[in-house]
Amino acid sequence: MGVLTDIAEKQEAEQKLHHLAYFDTLTQIPNRYSFMLRLEADIHLASRQSSALALLFIDLDNFKWTNDSFGHEAGDLLLIEIANRLKARLRKSDTVYRIGGDEFTVIVSSYMDNDSLVQLAEDLVGTIGRTFYVDEHKIKPGASIGISTFPGDAANAHELIKRADSAMFQAKEQGRGQVCFFSSHLEQQRQRDQMIIEGLKEAIQEDELDLHYQPKVMLRPDGFEVIGAEALLRWHRDGEVVSTPDRFIPIAEQSNLICELGYWVIDKSCRQIAEWKEQSLGPLTIAVNLSPRQFKDSQLCDYLDSCLQKYQIQPGELELEITESAVIEDIQGSIKTLTRLQSMGISIAMDDFGTGYSSLGYLKQLPIEVLKIDRSFISTIPNPDDNDAIVKAIFSMANALGLEVVAEGIENQQQLEFLVANNCQVGQGYYFSQPLPVKQFKHWLTAQARPLLSKA
Ligand code: C2E
Ligand code: MG
Ligand code: MG
Repeated sequence: MGVLTDIAEKQEAEQKLHHLAYFDTLTQIPNRYSFMLRLEADIHLASRQSSALALLFIDLDNFKWTNDSFGHEAGDLLLIEIANRLKARLRKSDTVYRIGGDEFTVIVSSYMDNDSLVQLAEDLVGTIGRTFYVDEHKIKPGASIGISTFPGDAANAHELIKRADSAMFQAKEQGRGQVCFFSSHLEQQRQRDQMIIEGLKEAIQEDELDLHYQPKVMLRPDGFEVIGAEALLRWHRDGEVVSTPDRFIPIAEQSNLICELGYWVIDKSCRQIAEWKEQSLGPLTIAVNLSPRQFKDSQLCDYLDSCLQKYQIQPGELELEITESAVIEDIQGSIKTLTRLQSMGISIAMDDFGTGYSSLGYLKQLPIEVLKIDRSFISTIPNPDDNDAIVKAIFSMANALGLEVVAEGIENQQQLEFLVANNCQVGQGYYFSQPLPVKQFKHWLTAQARPLLSKA
């Protein structure tokens, strides 16, 4: 009897150890270790049989938020519930694994086609998304799923996981609750973006960034007058353009890197204002573009304040160009920031106007001085259809609100004449000059601007 009990206890202990090694203690479903073993084995089998398999990488949306708001116990209960829901939904042959905090995977060893994989993944998103109650709390879970296939997307288990993870990341970026297939195109794009981010981080230190200045010209019936310039960021390495702002600014905007760049631009522009003043050029106003993210940065006003002091900038010498997307989310907060900037003597322009919300209602509330009509409206002048009417409407709206209108992207005489006829006050564009490095800008001001200015 004693021997039998010993054996039974030993077997039980072994089973427990086995369970610990292969199963997740919280949800009781197979763990990361099991997943790796099984994936290797399935891939081996699939390559011998020349068949395919798919990997679904599931990541819960806002799980950290659930944990933070309802407590870790609620978070644990949610993970258990989701493991159970997934298990119940899947066929016996498709196992679900918990491979990390809020990460689950499913290996699908036989499937008809990609559509059926999407159908399955969307079903799982739906299953996970059902409301869950913990005590009195109502939790609405969500998940994003990335899919990769063997042998189509990857040659081994390691690659297959990386690609499903990357597809999941894409799904998150497209808004939560999405299903996304791995695409080498997207992956390449991501790698290129990453290179830009790494490069930009060094660009400031390596002195690769510079500002070019595009003249802004007052359009008077009797002649033109240069009143300032827009500072536009440029990135060169060994004399070559590394990337254009249209490309690198949106990438930098995904992180706080844009603020670092933005503060560099502000400092450099203020220094330029002081320099031009010392050289008795002007008076010239420099307009600096401000990204939505930087507009919301808590240090913005203090930083600007310190620059104004440092370079002795007077009211009207610095202008900030913001876009509608920067203010629309939080009008009240934006009014506060804009009012403070205004009290510091900084004027505010609404850039790219007409491409966003363009609503009179909120414009009326904002303390701004200038509307910059987006280039896309100017480039189609003269246009017998709608655009001219839109531009005219923008002018009359701006007039009613007492705003100055700047037209950007003026490229030819016809556009200029239309704008002057419609009482546009300020113009900017290749017709006058491209954005120029500071030396050439100075040269343009003294040499080329004069004949242009007499060309009324
Ligand atoms: P934006 O603020 O609307 O700047 C005007 C853009 O139009 C500039 O492009 C300028 O070179 C271009 N442009 C000016 N006149 C003409 C014209 O007659 N024809 C055509 N086809 N284009 C013209 P750029 O320098 O490539 O900058 C693109 C965008 O990148 C800017 O649009 C702005 O949104 C952003 N950007 C540039 N510098 C900065 C910066 O320092 N900070 C931030 N946050 N954004 C910047
Ligand atoms: Mg601008
Ligand atoms: Mg613009």
